[in-house]
Amino acid sequence: MSEKKHILIVGGGLAGSTLAHRFLEKGIQITIVDKGENHATAIAAGMVNPMVFRRMNKSWRLDEYIFESQNFYLSLEEKLNCKLYHPIIIRRMFSSEQERESWENRQDKPEFHNFLEVISESDRQFNKAKNEFGSGRLKNSYWIEAKTYYKANLSYFENHATLLKESFSLADFIPEEATYKGVKYDHVVFCCGYLNKYVPFFQDAPIQQTKGQTLTISSNEILHDESLNRKCFVLPIGENLFRVGATYEWDDESLEITEASKKLLLENLQVIGDFKIKILEQIAGVRPTVLDRRPIMGQHSTYSKLFIFNGLGTKGYLMAPTLSREMCDFILHGKALDKEVSIERFKK
Ligand SMILES: Cc1cc2nc3c(=O)[nH]c(=O)nc-3n(C[C@H](O)[C@H](O)[C@H](O)COP(=O)(O)OP(=O)(O)OC[C@H]3O[C@@H](n4cnc5c(N)ncnc54)[C@H](O)[C@@H]3O)c2cc1C
Repeated sequence: MSEKKHILIVGGGLAGSTLAHRFLEKGIQITIVDKGENHATAIAAGMVNPMVFRRMNKSWRLDEYIFESQNFYLSLEEKLNCKLYHPIIIRRMFSSEQERESWENRQDKPEFHNFLEVISESDRQFNKAKNEFGSGRLKNSYWIEAKTYYKANLSYFENHATLLKESFSLADFIPEEATYKGVKYDHVVFCCGYLNKYVPFFQDAPIQQTKGQTLTISSNEILHDESLNRKCFVLPIGENLFRVGATYEWDDESLEITEASKKLLLENLQVIGDFKIKILEQIAGVRPTVLDRRPIMGQHSTYSKLFIFNGLGTKGYLMAPTLSREMCDFILHGKALDKEVSIERFKK
């Protein structure tokens, strides 16, 4: 009988946690190193918007990701014993006649049936926000309670895996053997998000740092059963509270909130409506993004026991459940990764 594998995952954010669940499902022993400080997974609005409105196209590989992701988070609710998954209607307030026409050109096509509602008279007449060009509603969108997701996962791993709440110590790591603090692992997967550049093994992975800021506001005037979207999103999170976001600030890993971003978010909110609001909180985080907007997954070219799973970008909550399954199959069974996500695309 073969001995049970033991895998080390560095980083317990969305990438590391989804991957850990995939390994645990297969009965593999897991150790996770996470310093317990998270500035993306826990900060995120956790929204899954099936569309990219800018081009009025479906998100990349949407049909493969969307239903698997919904099932993944629903089953995780049972495992973690907490509420994570909230279906929500996203209403796009069109920014021009052309944008509405783009929607109308797609709404009857079979490939958009699962995602675009046909624009109705009430969408045209919708008056709970500025609606000069009309609006359209999305199906199959949802949001995940991000902070709960991160914290509940770490608690779960404390009981079902080994969780080391610390910074990964390079001095205690032998990459050739995949030995960390005297324990030998079969594989080590680096899931460090925007902090990847501080780990010396995957410097060929061009992970950018895209800072984002959001506001939490309260208001009695904003619709609370739909997420309004134009220039920014307004996500109802219960009890007349809303997340408004998010900014995109490139190559910035500082975690300070700024007045300039607050002003921008408030200006963007005004494009949706002149609501009376109270600002309760402003937070900042950093997304791990890649210029070609595809994640980065693969194996180290010298140290064959080392792997990377990173670059989840702005649509991490949609992609992570499927990609973690594919990453698991790659590591355990050598099943080829999609060329578009493979780190090989950056190797000369
Ligand atoms: C403001 C904002 C809003 C967002 N909104 C959405 C959204 O609505 N929908 C969506 O899908 N995505 C959203 N995202 C993006 C999403 O958060 C990311 O795609 C995702 O969280 C990235 O996960 P990750 O695990 O790669 O990185 P992270 O969440 O950064 O996790 C990496 C983990 O590794 C740990 N770590 C790193 N280095 C070390 C080390 N050396 N030692 C120990 N531990 C280490 C860190 O502590 C951290 O916990 C948003 C992001 C931001 C910032």
